[in-house]
Amino acid sequence: MITSLVNRGGRAGVRRGERVADVETASGGRLSSDPMELLRRFDEFRSWAAGLAGDVFTDAVDESALGPPVPAPQKVFGVGLNYTDHAEEAGLELPTEPLIFTKFPSCLVGPRADVVLTSNRVDYEVELVAVVGEGGRNIAEKDALARLAGYCVGQDISDRRMQFAGKPPQFSMGKSVDTFGPIGPGVVALDSLADPNDLALSCAVSGEVRQEARTSLMVFAVPELVAWLSRHCTLVPGDLIFTGTPAGVGSVREPRRYLASGDTITSTIESLGTMVNRCVPGEA
Ligand code: ZN
Repeated sequence: MITSLVNRGGRAGVRRGERVADVETASGGRLSSDPMELLRRFDEFRSWAAGLAGDVFTDAVDESALGPPVPAPQKVFGVGLNYTDHAEEAGLELPTEPLIFTKFPSCLVGPRADVVLTSNRVDYEVELVAVVGEGGRNIAEKDALARLAGYCVGQDISDRRMQFAGKPPQFSMGKSVDTFGPIGPGVVALDSLADPNDLALSCAVSGEVRQEARTSLMVFAVPELVAWLSRHCTLVPGDLIFTGTPAGVGSVREPRRYLASGDTITSTIESLGTMVNRCVPGEA
């Protein structure tokens, strides 16, 4: 059974299956209650968590009460056009090096949080999110996965009206509105995964599957993204990389299919879990 780091009301929890325990309590105070502090010492957390007996997990998981497992990262990177089929559906050429934008950390919410629709052109994008562990600068591709704490599921919600209001488009604001960054349910260490470079991911809107792909189809795989980013920025524990979305987003469908109030967005990645986010109307 997979063990993960979750955020329960701002306190770090350790989850195994459908059971969870408070990290600080279960460790007798040896480990911090702060999820960000645990990401700075993730190897210690992971080896402690792996050795826990089943009876330590005292509580049933309440998914609706989970916050973003990484609540306050220093940096949140997004990657544009990182799946061939998505670039094709958008009618855009594949980038020759990673196309990076920012999501401001204030957009992050938990795996069951509501997404506030700011216009009638808000769109979904299921994405694998890489969570930096040790991080560093000038990381070689072969060392990149070892510098991560793990992965979680993410939604790169985008207001296409704001994103494409002018030329050139403004990605960062259109993707950084409050609630536009659901992540979760927890951070799963990469050694829990059979192949961290090949995971099935999917997104359904109100039960209709809209996106279905594998992370092995990325243009720039996670190790390449980590190496490229770390040539320019120092990566620190908790930094997030939204690694891009596959084909099937609403804005390039015929006819277009944007999110509507009352829709539920169900985002699943193999071995990492599922998020369910409900769309609610924004203030007029
Ligand atoms: Zn995206």
